[in-house]
Amino acid sequence: MEINILVICYLIASITFIVGLKMLSHPESARKGNLIAAAGMFIAILGTIFLYQENGTKLSNYGWIFGGLILGTVAGTLAAKKVKMTAMPEMVSLFNGMGGACAALISVVEFNHINFRDEAADSLTLLIIFAGLIIGTVSFAGSMIAWAKLNGRIKDYSFNGQHIVNLFIFAVIIILSAYYIINQQHTTGYLFYLVLVLSILYGIFFVLPIGGADMPVVISLLNSFTGVAAAFGGFLYNNPVMLTGGILVGSAGTILTILMCKAMNRPLTNVLIGSFGANHKSRNNDNKDQGNYKEISITDTAVVMRYAEKVIIVPGYGLAVAQAQHVCHELEKILTERGVEVTYAIHPVAGRMPGHMNVLLAEADVDYGILQEMEQANDQFSQTDVVLILGANDVVNPAAKTDPSSPIYGMPVLDVEKAKLVVVNKRSMKPGYAGIENELFFQPKTSMLFGDAKEILQKLVAEVKNV
Ligand code: NDP
Repeated sequence: MEINILVICYLIASITFIVGLKMLSHPESARKGNLIAAAGMFIAILGTIFLYQENGTKLSNYGWIFGGLILGTVAGTLAAKKVKMTAMPEMVSLFNGMGGACAALISVVEFNHINFRDEAADSLTLLIIFAGLIIGTVSFAGSMIAWAKLNGRIKDYSFNGQHIVNLFIFAVIIILSAYYIINQQHTTGYLFYLVLVLSILYGIFFVLPIGGADMPVVISLLNSFTGVAAAFGGFLYNNPVMLTGGILVGSAGTILTILMCKAMNRPLTNVLIGSFGANHKSRNNDNKDQGNYKEISITDTAVVMRYAEKVIIVPGYGLAVAQAQHVCHELEKILTERGVEVTYAIHPVAGRMPGHMNVLLAEADVDYGILQEMEQANDQFSQTDVVLILGANDVVNPAAKTDPSSPIYGMPVLDVEKAKLVVVNKRSMKPGYAGIENELFFQPKTSMLFGDAKEILQKLVAEVKNV
């Protein structure tokens, strides 16, 4: 009877994951979707703790289980409450890495169970244990590097022949794993730990050289790795809810990776062999003299926007840094009330995590209907009077289209220069994430509006009201 209740718990949890994931696809329902999936996970955890039985025996080590649960809950809640919106991408990487580590630890625990039993395990079980170990560990190590890169603790690093080294490590991992699975009874268990160490090394080398503009693809790839590794854990324990959760994360991550590859114009094969950034070693236009740029005042910006027919706002990472989404929405509303058509152009990799700008603007209650995807927006720029760029840089850099030596060459960007007037708000002439200059800032149609996005927008709102 209890087992049946447990199955029902797992069924409910699996359904909530699917419903939650579906709701995550729209900013308006995303928060609720997250809560629904979390409630399902809570049911699955409680069900497992109190109803799961093996050979007629229930779990008894409640001290350890609840000790871990309380520690994790306190740490997770504090971290999530304290995190600034700008540090969200790092936190997502950190959590993703923890998921990978959990999946790898399951493999370590189960491998030791087999070893202690001192009897041969079937090859399929071993295959699943090794797969979970390798994928989970790569996801953990790679996510830690991504976390450190996103918060600027470490820089991109590569050396000549790094791809060969990566491929070599990967080949050794596969060969050692296959060797152990085939010859388990005549082989030392230390091979398992060698595979663990090599997987950590591979995860580090895989993400370390990733060039600036390619990070989003890798982040979503690591996300899918964690899902796949968790699904292997589900196989191992014959646990349907873990399997469903893992498959959902794995497939959602894979779809996101493919979408990101499309957005970045990078073939998926490049991602898989980790050849990011390598084609573009040089940071383009280092110290290249770009000529002069011109500035525009707040008042002039307010006037041109107020009397424009059509305005497109391009949000970027700087808008998130300044936490200026609410005042940005205010400006958009005031302009709309005065008869200006205002929309937002959302680049798929703007910000520091997939969907960053959508989340940011949804938080400020911006109507989802006025967010334009890149392709849509690119068709609109030529009929636009004013483009207001708020803390965006790489995603509007024409070098992606014109300079083959640029690290972002080939990445589709927003064609803002087609508009009649481009106003760029940022604090200085410093580069963005990819570390390169932007010739857009020096073009005749462009005017710079220097300052913190929030302060500038507050002043603009006041000015537009007076015009
Ligand atoms: P960028 O990082 O290219 O540029 C952001 C700009 O914002 C900077 O040039 C900075 O200039 C300006 N800025 C910073 N703070 C403020 C502020 N308070 N007020 C006004 N401006 C500010 O951002 P984009 O969104 O254009 O591009 C995203 C980049 O991040 C891409 O290269 C992408 O590949 C990468 N990336 C994206 C991820 C994703 O999943 N979306 C993940 C990892 C990386 P200044 O200092 O002069 O103010």
